[in-house]
Amino acid sequence: YVKQQGGDDICWYEATINEATDDGLRLEAELRDAFNEGQFIPYYQPKFELKTGIITGFEALVRWQHPTRGLLKPHHFINAIINNRLSFELFSQMAIQIAKQLAIWRQKGFCQHICVNADAAEFSHPDFFDMVNRLLKEYAISSHQFHIEVTESSLIQRHSNIRQKLNLLKELGVFLALDDFGTGYASLSYLQEYPFDFIKIDKSFISNITTDHIQRAIVKAILDLATALDMQVIAEGIEAEEQRDVLLDMGCQQGQGYWFGKPVAANVATEMLVKQYAS
Ligand code: C2E
Ligand code: MG
Ligand code: MG
Ligand code: MG
Repeated sequence: YVKQQGGDDICWYEATINEATDDGLRLEAELRDAFNEGQFIPYYQPKFELKTGIITGFEALVRWQHPTRGLLKPHHFINAIINNRLSFELFSQMAIQIAKQLAIWRQKGFCQHICVNADAAEFSHPDFFDMVNRLLKEYAISSHQFHIEVTESSLIQRHSNIRQKLNLLKELGVFLALDDFGTGYASLSYLQEYPFDFIKIDKSFISNITTDHIQRAIVKAILDLATALDMQVIAEGIEAEEQRDVLLDMGCQQGQGYWFGKPVAANVATEMLVKQYAS
């Protein structure tokens, strides 16, 4: 195994990823078992209105409920999934669980959205659009409740016809967010080329926002740009109340981060909504 940079936990799978060794084959078999047995589950991190603290929706973040190693975060296995060409499998399993969760919440009268993460490569899968379309219909999900987040870094690879594919998703009524904004190589051109509804400012621009005037200037510029382009902004990685205050002063309306809430299991997310609706 290798030690994850800067982290305190061990990364079990990274070392074997690209090797056509026994380990690589074992890993692939283990991943397939995990899919067959439904070990990949969404955790939900709340997105909130900075001014009121009201929960507007949740981001679904995959966790691997590993039979012996416990609950694993994406950095342990996401590259292994991509390298074994299982990203579409991951996307569909996440999307199905999210659709079911939205249906459960609707029965309780909750109208929050859920956002699923996708790698741009997944849009090229021949079943992608049918699958999304079928899910939206089968679970009668209203169009504003299902969002897809695409990272800048996955757009860099310029998969064919990305714009057309994103437009197709818009036609299905799906809302689109550009994740980790500002960390890629072509952030501004993506805004020009693709039909995003939301920009998510990467947490690296938020971490020192209370003390660093350069970070504040960058975030202000993103907020102005988004207003001009009629897009909404979500600030990622808000870890302190002071950061929330600075963002709010600058006109940012929505955010996510450990200060407000960490990713939690579905039943805990439901409890948060129950409390919100009760008050
Ligand atoms: P992301 O989409 O940018 O998600 C935000 C990550 O930052 C999450 O890590 C979240 O737990 C973490 N985070 C949230 N608030 C804070 C904060 O205040 N401070 C700090 N330091 N971190 C915060 P996580 O869950 O480990 O996910 C990591 C990445 O894995 C995600 O980054 C996303 O790119 C990817 N990922 C997660 N789930 C999926 C999935 O279902 N499919 C795909 N393709 N990628 C996924
Ligand atoms: Mg995301
Ligand atoms: Mg992000
Ligand atoms: Mg990220």
